[in-house]
Amino acid sequence: MPIALTSDQADLAAAVAGFTARHADIAATRAAFDKIASGEPQPSWQAAVGIALDTITVLGGIGYTWEHDVHLYWRRAMSLAALLGPAGAWRKRLTSLSRATGRHHDLPLVDEPAGLRAAVAPVLAEAARIADPGQRRRFLATRGLAAPHYPHPHGIGAGPAAQVVIAQEFARAGLAQPSTIVGEWALPTILAHGTPEQREFFVAATLRGDITWCQLFSEPEAGSDLASLRTRAEAADGGWVINGQKVWTSIAAQADWAICLARTDPLAPKHQGISYFLVDMRSPGVEVRPLREANGGYLFNEVFLTDVFVPDARLVGAPGDGWRLARATLGNERVNISQGTGQRGRLPSAFLSDLPGPVPDEVLAEAGALTADALAFAAMSQRLLLRQITPGLPPAQRLGPEASVLKVISADNVARLRRAVLDWHGAAAAVLTGPSEDYLSVPPQLIGGGTAEIQLNVIGEQVLGLPR
Ligand SMILES: Cc1cc2nc3c(=O)[nH]c(=O)nc-3n(C[C@H](O)[C@H](O)[C@H](O)COP(=O)(O)OP(=O)(O)OC[C@H]3O[C@@H](n4cnc5c(N)ncnc54)[C@H](O)[C@@H]3O)c2cc1C
Repeated sequence: MPIALTSDQADLAAAVAGFTARHADIAATRAAFDKIASGEPQPSWQAAVGIALDTITVLGGIGYTWEHDVHLYWRRAMSLAALLGPAGAWRKRLTSLSRATGRHHDLPLVDEPAGLRAAVAPVLAEAARIADPGQRRRFLATRGLAAPHYPHPHGIGAGPAAQVVIAQEFARAGLAQPSTIVGEWALPTILAHGTPEQREFFVAATLRGDITWCQLFSEPEAGSDLASLRTRAEAADGGWVINGQKVWTSIAAQADWAICLARTDPLAPKHQGISYFLVDMRSPGVEVRPLREANGGYLFNEVFLTDVFVPDARLVGAPGDGWRLARATLGNERVNISQGTGQRGRLPSAFLSDLPGPVPDEVLAEAGALTADALAFAAMSQRLLLRQITPGLPPAQRLGPEASVLKVISADNVARLRRAVLDWHGAAAAVLTGPSEDYLSVPPQLIGGGTAEIQLNVIGEQVLGLPR
């Protein structure tokens, strides 16, 4: 139960239980607010009040009686919150503190890999002097720094602590770490399950930026319930012939290759009989039809596959093994998306500097609440990283529930921040393109990579052990 709020682990437990109940999200993320705002490890009594009430509702009738201890925690939290004073004042204080410092907290590293920082820094300094982004990417790829966590020769086999050092050095050099977008989750699957020829053909070329990927997974009747997919692949001479329709395929029009799920055994149970293919997007029979999005852009597409021939050499793993591989792919996607959003962006309070004139008190307070949530989110991301770099922890304990929790929190944080910024601009937002385009671009973060409901199901079933 998320009651003992004095430990970091309890904050996480509060976040998990709270998000699953869809109530304590604000409270749980604010649990780190006071700690971060004040720089002292004090308990978060404002959050504790709400979390205790949530706990009572989770327990049902027994929680509301003197038969159970929870009311004692609730009363204690209420008294201490009252002594701390109104939450609004704390929020405004955080706004002014964060505007003054304007930065996230760096992850403290006690033991970092010897000599790594000194080896990487000059390479990144040299990369920073290369003006052309394509050339810079190739420079980094050939030195194993486009994906340092990959094994040699593609990366430098960087473990989690080394990855943190390298990320810090990228930031220090003023460089963004290169991303291969869908390749971020296609390549690990190929590295782990592909043939030597597939690894040879795809990995280095993708890291250099010569191959761009898209993901042909979702279908009109198979989005959240991906295992219902109906695209068929039938065995042919030397390969497979694929027929079906995919949808919501991001960057399909620009992609060279696709990771594609298709059913190779229609008689097998739903999760079996699916296979994992690498499809050349220039193959005859591949037709891409762009879909226009609410923000006016053209990110995703419908993709029609008509008698598309895929050679045997482009099947990953064994026929029927596709669901297992797709789960690994989607796991990578989830971590990836969580890590990529919100963690290092502008703090919410920084958006106030875009506003003309003095900022009203209620806006300062709202900015403080959002900043608290962003900092709490960063703290939770750091906890995930810290656990990953703790020596001696068994692998199962390194990957906690944070990936799913962070995905839910980051999507929620982004949506609330974009909506608030729109509001802060008042009538000007009716004509300002920036804030309204930002708000119109929120749905991909809410839907892509799995909706909040699906993540909450994962948290409920796999983290809390609730029945399906
Ligand atoms: C911008 C964007 C880019 C995308 N890019 C790609 C891509 O490149 N490749 C790709 O394959 N897919 C991509 N997707 C698809 C994305 O993965 C799906 O949209 C997502 O999985 C949801 O599927 P759906 O849209 O069919 O909605 P549905 O599955 O129909 O869901 C509709 C609603 O029902 C809820 N729901 C469904 N099932 C459950 C359940 N069991 N319990 C509770 N609630 C449930 C959902 O949460 C949602 O609110 C992209 C989507 C977006 C928005």
